[in-house]
Amino acid sequence: MTATLETFESTNPATGDVVGSFPVQSAQEVNTTVEIARGAADWWGGLSYKERGKHLKRWAARITQNADELAELIHKENGKPLEDAHLELALALEHIGWGANNAEKKLKSESVFPGPLMANFEARIEYRPLGVVGVIGPWNYPVYTPMGSVGYALAAGNTVVFKPSEYTTAVGVYLADAFHAANPDAPRGVLEVVTGKGATGAALCHANVDKIAFTGSTATGKKIMAACAEKPIPVVLELGGKDALIVADDADVKAAADAAVFGGFANAGQTCVGVERVYVVESVRDEFLAAVKEELSHVKAGVSYGPMTMPSQKEVVRRHVEDALKSGGQAFAGGLDSIGDRVIEPVIILDADESCSAVQEETFGPTLTIKTVKDNDEAIRLANGTEFGLGSTVFSKKNGMKIARQLKAGQTSINAPLGFAAIPALPFGGSGQSGFGRIHGEAGLKEFARPHSIARQRFAIPGFALLTFRRTKFAFDLSKKIVHSMHQG
Ligand code: NAD
Repeated sequence: MTATLETFESTNPATGDVVGSFPVQSAQEVNTTVEIARGAADWWGGLSYKERGKHLKRWAARITQNADELAELIHKENGKPLEDAHLELALALEHIGWGANNAEKKLKSESVFPGPLMANFEARIEYRPLGVVGVIGPWNYPVYTPMGSVGYALAAGNTVVFKPSEYTTAVGVYLADAFHAANPDAPRGVLEVVTGKGATGAALCHANVDKIAFTGSTATGKKIMAACAEKPIPVVLELGGKDALIVADDADVKAAADAAVFGGFANAGQTCVGVERVYVVESVRDEFLAAVKEELSHVKAGVSYGPMTMPSQKEVVRRHVEDALKSGGQAFAGGLDSIGDRVIEPVIILDADESCSAVQEETFGPTLTIKTVKDNDEAIRLANGTEFGLGSTVFSKKNGMKIARQLKAGQTSINAPLGFAAIPALPFGGSGQSGFGRIHGEAGLKEFARPHSIARQRFAIPGFALLTFRRTKFAFDLSKKIVHSMHQG
């Protein structure tokens, strides 16, 4: 195989300095890497859960021992503050640990009741690895986000080929190197990285993989699904969001303001489950806005959160702010002038029209829309009024669960921001334009496993076999009678 000559660079979004230079890998190189991963699949898939768990824990230990170095790399390549990089690592480590500790329990062979007609059978469900899983990731949480797929796919016994975002490739390469450094006994191919831009990701979808786990924009997710349909192979799509935060009439208003400001502006708003819309009930509106103003006075753009990682996102933010203001929204904080060269100051628009792009499309920047609503029911109706269905937040002292149950979302955090993202046992995913399938928790392990149903006849009942051309009339009549008596109502 001839090595590729074309390269690309990832840069520090705060300074423009080059962080790393990587090959743009061709379809042929991607295929070769996938074959290396396939070569390791029997070895890795053949280990006991305990053995795989040990490898995953050694990986987590290596990441932990070098956390300062990796956090610094995340800070440089993605632009987020160092503390946020450490927080991201901590959450990712929790997921590796959960997968390692729980895969056996959640994927162990289980016996199920065969039913009265098949009482002479043993019925079992066993979970097998799929083989090779291709993971394609974004740049906003370059460790935590892909780990929801990589960690769980590995724990379920698959080998993985990971295509990190072109904006955070050094972090992706670091993760795979750390796995191999921590596990020198493992053959090459358990966790491999391919580097490049969209075309390299597309090549991974067409390579000999058994599933694609994609996290990224809705637009790219649709292309990936179309590519995977050609074979077909299954996909998990973790896509964009437009998350709402509801401030109910009985909310702890100060805590809600804290969550709205953190959820909206942390990571420069570049969080798939970040808060983009707030619905506040009119009886607590003035108190809430005052609390938001107070919270905002503690936020310093460029320090509390970093620059925009992907420069082109600034134009989306500009269009949404423009639309919101044109639609009748009032600037409560910032405005078009807040959009700087690299860093965007916080922007909050009050009462923009619900049909404008700032309310309906993912902004992925440090902006919030805040809408005053009559009551909790109107808040729920408007929160459910986009095509997305990813995360959501509710502040209510008494009715948090009741409101949460009515939200069209994959996950909801009550009385605190983003709680669900930090609890590894909770499945994570979306509906509608936010995608489908689940990472994290038991559902996340099963997403990367193939259920294998086994029905074993333990003994034959003479004259009572139904699935044969030599079935007796007696067996047929008796089985019919049994089933009809059970279902006649
Ligand atoms: P993106 O869709 O631009 O890119 C994601 C990845 O897909 C990158 O690695 C890219 O190189 C690759 N890619 C691009 N074109 C491709 C193609 N045709 N075939 C295969 N791969 C291709 O997204 P992004 O800008 O990196 O990430 C931001 C988006 O990710 C936001 O919409 C955000 O909401 C979403 N996101 C979702 C979650 C979630 O869990 N739902 C988590 C984090 C980010």
